[in-house]
Amino acid sequence: MNASQIIARKRDGHLLDAADITAFIRGYVDGSIPDYQMSALAMAIYFRGMNLAETTVLTEQMLCTGTVIEWSANGPPKVDKHSTGGVGDKVSLVLAPLLACCGLHVPMISGRGLGPTGGTLDKLESIPGFRTDLSLDEICRLTEQTGCVITGTTSDLVPADQQLYALRDVTATVPSIPLITASILSKKLAEGLDALVLDVKFGSGAFMKTVDQARELATSLVQVGTQLGLKVTALLCDMNQPLGHMAGNAVEVQESVEALAGNGPKDLMEVVYGLGSELLLAIGKAVNSETARRMLQEQIDSGQARERFDRMIVAQGGDPTATLDIADESVVEAKRDGYVSTMDTAQIGQAIINLGGGRRRKEDVIDSSVGVKMLVRLCDRVDAGQPLVRVYSRDGRTESATACLSAAIQIADVSPPAAPLILERIGPH
Ligand code: URA
Repeated sequence: MNASQIIARKRDGHLLDAADITAFIRGYVDGSIPDYQMSALAMAIYFRGMNLAETTVLTEQMLCTGTVIEWSANGPPKVDKHSTGGVGDKVSLVLAPLLACCGLHVPMISGRGLGPTGGTLDKLESIPGFRTDLSLDEICRLTEQTGCVITGTTSDLVPADQQLYALRDVTATVPSIPLITASILSKKLAEGLDALVLDVKFGSGAFMKTVDQARELATSLVQVGTQLGLKVTALLCDMNQPLGHMAGNAVEVQESVEALAGNGPKDLMEVVYGLGSELLLAIGKAVNSETARRMLQEQIDSGQARERFDRMIVAQGGDPTATLDIADESVVEAKRDGYVSTMDTAQIGQAIINLGGGRRRKEDVIDSSVGVKMLVRLCDRVDAGQPLVRVYSRDGRTESATACLSAAIQIADVSPPAAPLILERIGPH
């Protein structure tokens, strides 16, 4: 079948067989299938979906377009986590060194901010000198030496995703479960992992607004990953309010360092320990989640985790002793008495973008000194005039961000019911 026949089959709701998907992806990467035909297929997949077998082949074929890291056979297990993104989500900064202290290796390939959610690379780049452009050789060498790296992708890893993601971005085909599954998993499989844990967020600050959408994505990721021989589980985590107190770039690095030193906010540590435990269990380093949590906690209490973070910073060219630049402070106050009933978390993320802490366009330069500190959480009782958010901002941008933040936090007469932070685990038992 030629490319247009393959597109027509998917458009008409038929299943694609492995040979068709393979030919299409190979043709797209070698240039014989042009962007406009790939766009048409992406749109057909967007509307018609793909079953497990098709999504598995798509993932595998995308993976095959680049290098898959091969680690020495008897080295420590290689693990990673992926989050679908949230506001204040700094889990990677804490979890990577923590897992390295537990004897696992973490070659974490991370991303930049996407929409209102912050990006791990942007946060780390607020540390002077920190490099997020490691080559494949550096990723391998530094992971073996330090136990963990956090860096951006390289051109050797899954070129199909680099091309296809840019195309999906401009053809409104990003929100498709099979395309997201293949995109995320092909990149993670290229790291040559033994186990992966997924933090799939739902709620007002998440890509997936409802629990059902998040569950559908998590199930697809776990099923396809498992088919491809990866140990993979997912946690569905609430993103109806920012994670931890801080959201921004430098302020999140500071909060991560505090967390590694044993002073992390409760919600952040719950997600860190929940995800970390999944990996320790998957690899067989712990027999149950209590033991796993204890192992993780010990690395924090002993100061090892904090020390490992500094080693990672130094290995990637950064200065862990540098004082991070934080912008001037102001506060957003409650307009009335009551209970914090809802937060439009995407709007909080948008306020940070408006302050200059995120990008409207790919080429925008980030101001890492801006951000917010959330002073209240959902269900808290507040009085009129009480500070709700501390804003770190530069002249001229404070007023609009303050208005945006004030509108994002609703106060009502009654408290909403308390909701669990980790709602569900998806994966084999
Ligand atoms: N993140 C990815 O890496 N890929 C997607 O398709 C969506 C989010």
